Amino acid sequence: MAKLYFHFGAMNAGKSTILLQAAHNYTERGMSVLLLKPAIDNRDSDDGEIVSRIGIKQKAITFEPEENLEQYIGNHAQQHDINCVFVDEAQFMTHDQVWQLAAIADRLSVPVICYGLRTDFKGQLFEGSAALLGIADNIREIKTLCWCGRKATMNLRTNEAGLPVTDGAQIEIGGNDRYISLCRQHWRKYQVSRTT
Ligand SMILES: [Zn+2]
Repeated sequence: MAKLYFHFGAMNAGKSTILLQAAHNYTERGMSVLLLKPAIDNRDSDDGEIVSRIGIKQKAITFEPEENLEQYIGNHAQQHDINCVFVDEAQFMTHDQVWQLAAIADRLSVPVICYGLRTDFKGQLFEGSAALLGIADNIREIKTLCWCGRKATMNLRTNEAGLPVTDGAQIEIGGNDRYISLCRQHWRKYQVSRTT
């Protein structure tokens, strides 16, 4: 049986870089991969691409929240070989879509490897991440560091001026927000300072 994987990490942990490297390892051996990402991601202007901060990028198929991924991938598999499915920004998937990916692993025996954030800037689970943490066969943390040297597990949202933002929607469409990865202790300081 193939597995459903969730590799999670804070912002700027290098998730897209690791995804593209892993996908490259498959194609280098003559295997076929399917790269997917939710259409909601507007962080980079190149919609339809998985973009790594170190400068590498690759085309991906984007999908909407209404898309049935089991059907989509199943149809794709009838015409193309698929040895592995990769999903970037997996936190933006719906609960149902995560179960659809599990069905791809279970019924088509194709491994599905998802990369994404665990929590939003308020420290709350994303829908896709909650489902993945619940049912993925293999869960791995991609680690990055806070400025203090501790592991960064939280994401601080900042505005155009670089000031911390603690209110707002989970997903800012078209915003100019930036994110800083912090350890929980330093992330908490910004949450407290807002109310004092
Ligand atoms: Zn810290």
